[in-house]
Amino acid sequence: MASAAHRAILTLDKRARAELKGQKPVILWMTGLSGAGKSTIANRLEEKLWLCGHHTMLLDGDNLRCGLNKDLTFTDAARVENIRRTAEVAKLMLEAGLIAICALISPFRRERMLARQLVGADEFIEVFVDAPLDLCKRRDPKGLYARALAGQIPNFTGISSPYEPPDTPELHLRTDRHDVDALAGQVLEALRHRGVIAGTP
Ligand code: ADP
Repeated sequence: MASAAHRAILTLDKRARAELKGQKPVILWMTGLSGAGKSTIANRLEEKLWLCGHHTMLLDGDNLRCGLNKDLTFTDAARVENIRRTAEVAKLMLEAGLIAICALISPFRRERMLARQLVGADEFIEVFVDAPLDLCKRRDPKGLYARALAGQIPNFTGISSPYEPPDTPELHLRTDRHDVDALAGQVLEALRHRGVIAGTP
C-alpha cells in the first residue's frame, strides 16, 4: 500500500541549528561488551563537552530500553530493531544540531553499518569501547554476567550471543589500559581534530 506520508519542507537545516551552538553535529556511536565502559565514558565525555559549552544528547541503550525500546527483547531480530530505532533517533538529534552520543552494545557489524549509512560519511564516528571479556566479567557493574552465567539471562552478549568487534572504528578506546578521564579526553581531542568542536580547551 502506498504511504500517505510526505516530508515537510523546513526552512532551517541541521547546519543552521548547529551554527548557533558553535559545533558540527555528529553521532558518536560507542559499541562494546557490557561492562566495557560505554556509559561511564559517555557520561564523562558529556560532562566535559558541557563544561566547554557544547550541546549534546546521550542516548544510553539501557535507558532507551526503559522507554522507546521497552517492547524489545534481546533476540537477534529485536537487537536489530533496537539499533534501527536508536540510529533514527540519533539522526533526529543530528538534525537538531547536537552531538549525539549513543552508548549501546550494538553487537552486530551489519547493524552498526546501517546506522552509519543513515547519515553523512563525516557525521558518524564509531568508537570501540574495548575491554577483554574476562575483565568485563570481573567488573560486572550490573551483576548481569553473574546472572547470564547462571543461565538466568538468555542471549547475553559475550556469553550466549556473539559480539562482533569493529574492524576499522574511527576511535579505539582501551579501558583496560587507560582511566575514564584520559579516554574521555581522547574522544574530545578527536572531536577537535575533526573540527566538530573548536580550538583548545
Ligand atoms: P557499559 O556501559 O559498557 O555496559 P559501564 O560504563 O556501565 O559499562 O560499566 C563499566 C564499569 O567499569 C564501571 O563500573 C566503571 O566504573 C568501570 N571502569 C573501570 N575502569 C574503567 C575505564 N577505564 N573506563 C570505563 N569504565 C571503567
